[in-house]
Amino acid sequence: MPTIIDLTSADVRFPTSRHLDGSDAMNTDPDYSAAYVTLETDGEHHGASLVFTIGRGNDVVVAALEALRTHVVGRRIEDLDDVNELSRTLIGDSQLRWLGPEKGVMHMAIGGVVDAAWDLLARQAGKPLWLLLAELTPEELVSTVDFRYLTDAITPEQALTLLTERAEGKAERIEHLRAHGFPAYTTTPGWLGYSDEKLVRLSHEAVEQGFGMIKLKVGNDLDDDVRRLRLARGAVGPGVRVSVDANQRWDVADAIEWMTALAPFSPYWIEEPTSPDDVLGHAAIRAGLGHHGIRVATGEHCQNRVVAKQLMAAGAVDVFQIDATRMGGINELLAVLLLAARYGIPVCPHAGGVGLCEMVQHLAMVDFVAFAGTTEDRYLEYVDHLHEHFTEPVRIADGAYVAPTRPGGGAEMLPASISDHTYPHGIVWAEGTTDSSTDLRENEHR
Ligand SMILES: [Mg+2]
Repeated sequence: MPTIIDLTSADVRFPTSRHLDGSDAMNTDPDYSAAYVTLETDGEHHGASLVFTIGRGNDVVVAALEALRTHVVGRRIEDLDDVNELSRTLIGDSQLRWLGPEKGVMHMAIGGVVDAAWDLLARQAGKPLWLLLAELTPEELVSTVDFRYLTDAITPEQALTLLTERAEGKAERIEHLRAHGFPAYTTTPGWLGYSDEKLVRLSHEAVEQGFGMIKLKVGNDLDDDVRRLRLARGAVGPGVRVSVDANQRWDVADAIEWMTALAPFSPYWIEEPTSPDDVLGHAAIRAGLGHHGIRVATGEHCQNRVVAKQLMAAGAVDVFQIDATRMGGINELLAVLLLAARYGIPVCPHAGGVGLCEMVQHLAMVDFVAFAGTTEDRYLEYVDHLHEHFTEPVRIADGAYVAPTRPGGGAEMLPASISDHTYPHGIVWAEGTTDSSTDLRENEHR
């Protein structure tokens, strides 16, 4: 069985800020980036994953990945228990955890390494990660979860009961995914940097492509948001949901006031209205907006399963938005899926950036098969950026993610994409501000 003989890392950045792709109220100049990590083995397979950032700081995550090397090299990944043990070891490093116990840069780097191990395990099994996870027994799924700090919400015994109940119909749901995929929504029309004409054109295209929901960035200027939401609602009609995302812009009272002004256009959810750590603030916003039928969504910046538990247990969210690379990896995300199932809260994953769609689709699909048991009111975010850099780019058909078929967790990038975009000496960066990268030229055509 293969032994991990090296951990390699790369600082990969895409100059997306040159065209305002990805611009929102807080993140005005993102260069979508990947702190890329590979576990090399002496066997046939390797494991690859990434941690998403938006530019500066990507090097900090790379340094954090390197700090985990000693826990990884020399280790075997033969089965599920090995990955669970790796996760526990990384989270339990008694010195590194001082930098922020299960939160922040170190925790994101742990997630990168844990996910690379899952990628390796899936390759060894010859299965896409979603299928590997979906075929785990309820007992095996429970074994992946670290229940520390969660047992006031759900115990391992309760989890086993819940997952055993939900296991009924699993085979049919796997077949459903293969036939129909997982419902998607698109954020492509709604970036703050786009003109009204582009917003309307892309909103029409979203409906033609079969999306059941679009999302607009808001929070810079109320008059602009009223105008843009009216245009979007007019473009998609009453039958398509329109959600909005403030990217943490507001205090509690501002969020309620601003969203009340947007209520006539029936926004489906308000995403990240305030600080991702403010559980009670989200609860107050939800109480203030419920009578308008506006749901509160957050989670992409939720630092760990404990805050996720609080948001759900306190009635602070209607929708939880897992992110593929914010927490401590697949193991912790499975804990969050379990909590969401326990509280009956739909999980609508955050995606976009670079690689997040490719990765988080696996979690959405296992949520459907093993945890939630339904896709009702579930949507997986889709943004049409940078997919061409991956060995298995996401595919959308009729407004749904097509289930991946290649073995692995989805994060593997093409070697040329990594070398061309490595910061600061890759060809894209060495050539300065000229439009040298193909992804940017393609975006101009869309
Ligand atoms: Mg968001």
